[in-house]
This record gives sequence, structure tokens and C-alpha cells, in this order.
Amino acid sequence: MTPSIRLGRLFGIEVGFNWSLIFIFALVAWTLATSVLPDVASGYGAGIYWIIAVIGAVLFYASLLAHELSHAIVARRNGVKVAGITLWLFGGVSRLEGEPASARAEALIAGVGPLTSFVIAAIAFAVAAVTSSNALLSGLFGWLTFVNLVLGLFNLVPAFPLDGGRILSSLLWWRSGSRQRGVHNAVRVGRLFAYLMIAGGVLGVFLGGGLNGAWMAILGWFLLSAGASEEAGSAVRSLLRSVPVSAAMTSPVVTLPDWVSVEQFLESVAPNHPFTTYPVHEPSGKLTGVVRLSDLVRLPAGERGRKHLIDVARPIAEVPVTNPREDLSALIQRIGSGLEQRVLVFDNGKLVGILSPADIARVLTIRQSAGAATRT
Ligand SMILES: [Zn+2]
Repeated sequence: MTPSIRLGRLFGIEVGFNWSLIFIFALVAWTLATSVLPDVASGYGAGIYWIIAVIGAVLFYASLLAHELSHAIVARRNGVKVAGITLWLFGGVSRLEGEPASARAEALIAGVGPLTSFVIAAIAFAVAAVTSSNALLSGLFGWLTFVNLVLGLFNLVPAFPLDGGRILSSLLWWRSGSRQRGVHNAVRVGRLFAYLMIAGGVLGVFLGGGLNGAWMAILGWFLLSAGASEEAGSAVRSLLRSVPVSAAMTSPVVTLPDWVSVEQFLESVAPNHPFTTYPVHEPSGKLTGVVRLSDLVRLPAGERGRKHLIDVARPIAEVPVTNPREDLSALIQRIGSGLEQRVLVFDNGKLVGILSPADIARVLTIRQSAGAATRT
């Protein structure tokens, strides 16, 4: 989940939100203004309800942000880099780069989130008690107590990607001594919970639970697929650990003048090279972008003579970069889906290679068969 809007930095951690958050913000404010608040404190005008409701929605997202920030801060303190926090439709996501070095660190990073939500619930409960003479304010903080309790408890469900799944996996890691076995067994437990949620949700729909049942079944299905991708990702990362970029990259790299026309390129350059991706440079030699063969052949024949490589190139600033010594598993975690657009490999400012998903797939296949051969 990449952020659409940057909010700024908090404790040195980049915070942003995705557009999908607006829907839930509106839904929360609407629910508060039209049903929760009028129920606990009747007799106010609609304007007052809406003002308090919007404050409530902001406090709700501040609670989510505090939960994610606690993960990020404890992760950083345990040597795991944090790329940032994104708030979106279903809450918050901390984007961690790399994995905790020990089961203890993993447990601390995962456990502090629900703990933070419970602490916020306790504070909100105290404020509700102090403001009990004002039904509207104490109603708002009573509601905030409830949502933070639910947030903390829901996150303790032992299924990936929830905190409970990570806590369970760290316990199993600690007991077995192997991170991957911990993840594998935690995913199995999580799958059981996900099936229970789906079954419970479907049963709920049949018993007249309607929307709540459907919502639970969808969440169960989400946990099921998240568990599977967690396990796949963990297996890939362990296969790619301690493989440097230099072992996978395609080298040397052919760079082309960016003022050449697409037609010229397709007729005289492309047939002579086996590559599918070419960095392009301006007359001074400075790199300006990257062109892909597949994009060039897709251009209508009539435009190929008029367009130059620079017109169709992906700007150099948008292309992810690495160095030959970076670990492939760290690179994949750092750039994620960015890899689909090829990564340029620079050594001391000099372009020395290109890395494509095919290069990584090749390394994976070799490592997988080597692993199968030694595991007899
Ligand atoms: Zn969490």
C-alpha cells in the first residue's frame, strides 16, 4: 500500500495516507453524527453532532497512527529500518525494510501495537469518566474506548498480517530456533482462524446477520490470502538472503543516445542486442531514462519516425537503483513491486548492471534446486 498523500514526518518517520481512507473517515463521522452521539446525548442540533463527530473521526485516526507509530519506533530501536507509515481503508500499515534479527525483537515490535491501543483505551476511558457531566463528550470518549479495545483485540487474532500472527510466529520461532519454521506453523494456525471466520460469517449471513456476517467472511478470506503470501515471501527472502545483487544482475549494460528515433532503434540497434531494457543518455553522457523494447514496439508505426527515445523513456529519477553489494532479499523488501520496472546497478556512480525480475527468478530457481539437493 503506497501513500497517495504525504502528511509529514513524526519522530523521524514518514507518514502518509491513501485516498481510500477518506471513505472510512466519512463513514466514521457519519455513524457518530447520526447514530452514536444522538443515542448517548439527545437534544443537540445536527451541527454540534457533526462537529464532535469529525473530532471523533480525527481521534480515531490518531489512535490508528499511534498504534502504527509504536510498531515503527520499536522496530527502529531493534535495528529494522522503517520506510514509513501509510494509513488506508483498513487502518494502518508500517512499511518495515528487513526482518528483526531475533524472535524477541519480532515479539516486541508486534506486541507493542495492541498494547498501545489498550493504553489509549484506558486513557479514553479515564477522560470519559472525568467528563461524565457532559453526555456528549463522555459519549465520544466512551466510543473511543470501545474502538481502541476492539482494535487491540482484533489485532491479537493469531493470523497474518495481524500483530497476533507475528507474535505467534515469534513464539514458534523462539521455540524451534528457525524463523521460517515459525512463520510456517503460524500460517497454519492463522489459516484455521481464517476458516473459522469465514464459516462463522457465512453462518451469520444464513442466520440473518447480513452485513456483519459478510464482513467477517471477507476478513477471513483476506487473512487466508495474506497468510499464504507471508509464507511465500518468507521463503523467497530466505532463499535470496546473502545473495548480492552482483550475482544476479545482467552486465555489462548497453546505453543508447536518447536522441535516436524509435524507428532507427528498432531497425539498427534492437536486432543486434539480446537486451529488453536500455538506459538512454544525453549528448554529455548523462543518463536521462530507461526504454523498454516492449513499449517501443507497441508504438504505432506512423509515430516511430517522429518519436525519439527520450520521448518514450521512463525518466531516470523514477527508476529504482542499487549497488552490486546489496543483499537481494533486502533489495526486494526495500523496493517491493518497484522491481517490475527494472533496477539500475551503480558502483561509485558508474552504471555496472541492470537487474530484472527474470534475473531474480533465475537465482531463485538455482537456489531452490540446490536446497532440494542438500535436504535429503
Ligand atoms: Zn499492529
